[in-house]
Amino acid sequence: MNDGIADNPMTPEEHEKYSRQILFAGIGEAGQERLLGASAVLIGCGALGTVAGNLLVRAGVGRLRIIDRDFVESSNLQRQTLFDEADARAALPKAVAAERRLRAINSGVEIEGVVSDLTPRNAAELLSGFDVLLDGTDNFETRLLLNDAALSLNIPWIYAAVVGSYGLTMTIRPGETACLACLIEHGEGLAAAAGSEATCDTVGVLNAAVGTIASIESAEAIKLLAGKPEALHGRLIACDVWTGQFQSIRVARDPGCRACARRDFRFLAGEAQPHLTLCGRDSVQIHERGRRLDLGELARRLAAAAATEVRYNDFLLQFRVPPYQLTVFADGRAIIKGTKDPAVARSLYARYIGA
Ligand SMILES: [Zn+2]
Repeated sequence: MNDGIADNPMTPEEHEKYSRQILFAGIGEAGQERLLGASAVLIGCGALGTVAGNLLVRAGVGRLRIIDRDFVESSNLQRQTLFDEADARAALPKAVAAERRLRAINSGVEIEGVVSDLTPRNAAELLSGFDVLLDGTDNFETRLLLNDAALSLNIPWIYAAVVGSYGLTMTIRPGETACLACLIEHGEGLAAAAGSEATCDTVGVLNAAVGTIASIESAEAIKLLAGKPEALHGRLIACDVWTGQFQSIRVARDPGCRACARRDFRFLAGEAQPHLTLCGRDSVQIHERGRRLDLGELARRLAAAAATEVRYNDFLLQFRVPPYQLTVFADGRAIIKGTKDPAVARSLYARYIGA
C-alpha cells in the first residue's frame, strides 16, 4: 500500500470514474488515491468471491488476485454474479472467467486469476505482499489455513460465510483483534465448525444472503485499503435475510489462542492437509500429483478408453465415466464428482489420468 501521499495523483479520467466515491466523506480524494495503490486477494471465487470481486474492482482497488480451484457450472449462476451461461457451457475455471469479466468492468485494475487450491505449500507465495485477504471459501479447513497464513504474514483478512438465508462476517487484524481460532477453537467450537453438517450443498443458499454478507465484507476491505481502519465495525456481524434478524457481537481475544497468541500455525504447517478433500456436493478433490499434464495428449488417450463426453479448454479437461464425472486441471489436480469415497476417487484417477 502506498503511504497516502499523492505520489501518483489521479488522472482526470480516474477522478470522473470514482467521483461518487470521492464525494463520500469517509473516502475522499486521499482515500481514493490510497485505494488505487492498494492490493487484495480473493480466496475462493464462488458466491461471496464474485460479489466481493465486483465491488472491489468497481471501487478501484489497484490490484486484485483471484484464487479459485473450481470451474463454472449452471448451478452456480443463481448467486455467482460474475458468471454467465456461456462460462458454464465452456466449463471455464472460475478464476479465469472472473478475471475476464472484471477486466471488462474496469480495465484500470490489475487483475490476476490463479487456477489453484490454496494449500500450506503455496499460501505464503500466493498471499504475501498484499494488503488484505478476503474469504470467499466454502470450508473451515481452508479458512483455518487462511487464518494461520494471514497471522504469520501479518496481513488483515476478512472472514465471511453464508448458508441458507444466514451469514457471518468478521474482520481479523493480526495483533489487534480476535482471530478465527479465538472464535471457533474454544472447547467444542472447532469440532462443531469443522464438522458442521449444514452447507450450501445440503440446505441451499439465498443469493440475497450472499450479497448482504459479501457487501459488508467488501466495505471492510475498502475501509482498510482507503486507510480508514477507525471505521471498521470491529464486531462479528451475523444476519438472516429471511427472518430479518441482525446481530453484532463483540469477540474478545483469547489470551491462550493457539494461533494469534501461541503462534502455533498447524494448518499452515500442513499437518491438517490431506491429499484428498471433500469439496462439497457429491465430490472428492485429489491434489497429490506434482507435475503438469498435457491435456491434449490426455484427451486423445481418453478417447481410446471408455470415457465419454470428453471436452477440454486451455485450463481443464472434463469427461464422464458413468456414473462419475472427472475434471482434471493442467496442474494435475482433479475433482471427481459422483462419489464421496476417496478410494473410488483414487482408483478412477489412477486408471484414467495416471500417476
Ligand atoms: Zn486468536
